[in-house]
Amino acid sequence: MKILAVNAGSSSLKFQLLEMPSEEVITSGLVERIGYYNAVFTIKVNGEKVSVTQEILDHKVAVQLVVDGLIKHHIIDSLEDITGVGHRVVQGGEIFKDSVVITDKVIDQIKSLNDLAPLHNPANITGIDAFRKALPKVIQVGVFDTTFHQTMKEDAYLYATPYEWYQKYGVRKYGFHGTSHQYVSERAAILLKNPKAKIIVCHLGNGASLCAVDSGKSVDTSMGLTPLEGIPMGTRSGNVDPSILMLISDKEDKTYAQVLDDLNKKSGYLGVSGISNDSRDIIREMQNGDHRATLAHQIQIKRIADYIGSYYVYMGGLDAIVFTAGIGENESLVRSHILNAVKVLGIEVDPEENSKRGERLITTPQSKIKAFIIPTNEEVMIAREVIRLEKN
Ligand code: ADP
Repeated sequence: MKILAVNAGSSSLKFQLLEMPSEEVITSGLVERIGYYNAVFTIKVNGEKVSVTQEILDHKVAVQLVVDGLIKHHIIDSLEDITGVGHRVVQGGEIFKDSVVITDKVIDQIKSLNDLAPLHNPANITGIDAFRKALPKVIQVGVFDTTFHQTMKEDAYLYATPYEWYQKYGVRKYGFHGTSHQYVSERAAILLKNPKAKIIVCHLGNGASLCAVDSGKSVDTSMGLTPLEGIPMGTRSGNVDPSILMLISDKEDKTYAQVLDDLNKKSGYLGVSGISNDSRDIIREMQNGDHRATLAHQIQIKRIADYIGSYYVYMGGLDAIVFTAGIGENESLVRSHILNAVKVLGIEVDPEENSKRGERLITTPQSKIKAFIIPTNEEVMIAREVIRLEKN
């Protein structure tokens, strides 16, 4: 059974075709610069990337190109070979407590959440619309970044703001990266041979969030109403005092929207270091003795340790910390510094294992709490959801 996992952004469309249930990747690809004359369509054929640059003015054209490309490169014989399409949708609000088979009503419901995710949800819908037109007979499933966190209790998801803001406008914590947190924590529970395990997942990529998972359920997470809340990231500030908005708006004669943009795009690693949003540059310059690169790293480590401490207390214990995504999977220094910062919990890193890549335990046998690297796989999670709903 072949399932297409799709992630549509405002000017890009990423896809992966998976053989299920074996979860083998048949091909993957990307359309970039949708809306431009020099858009690029890339697809992997027999492991080699094939790219064409051409005019792709909207998502409909992009999707047709993907579908035609699969046939042209003999990856599938006909469209009938595709059993289902799974779409990543960023914001599911309180409406979607599970993945869902897409219907006209579902599209309207996703649209009703546009205020909560103005940058992401409209782009996701554009991708869904285009695939529904290109593959009208195929089941289409929406998989939300927020669903996994819908198990949080009120004390974890509510802000201490006027309650009417929640009632009228849905102001609360939703959390994101849910598919990744779910995939990684399910895998960790298997490695721990304990479905009731208490786990903290550190999804550290360019966007980054932590999630406290108890017995397979998200009980708290660091991102909030939007992905801006939580730990500092590549370009996002994470938590700040909201009064900063007014101060900088006055001092620099900027609108609130512009200051918010600075907090989203010019802060985090990039803002503190003044060098880059990429952890590889930060660590290199830190090792060269650059003070601000060192600070950018140290602030991130401290904030992550703060969250780990708070989740440890909130869950009343901890079995494992899991690292995933670009930084979590690749940066041994970041992992070891985080684990060192919380060593009071009885964590002992195994430096040899921590210096390697791929799924593994990175703590010693004496360590009271285990730590793992587990590579994330959001596409597989999406494909699994399509199969689960297709069977119902
Ligand atoms: P996102 O999906 O949020 O864009 P990723 O999970 O792909 O992010 O992580 C990308 C980040 O991971 C890069 O910005 C970089 O800081 C960090 N990184 C560190 N080492 C590597 C590596 N070997 N390959 C890719 N990214 C890496």
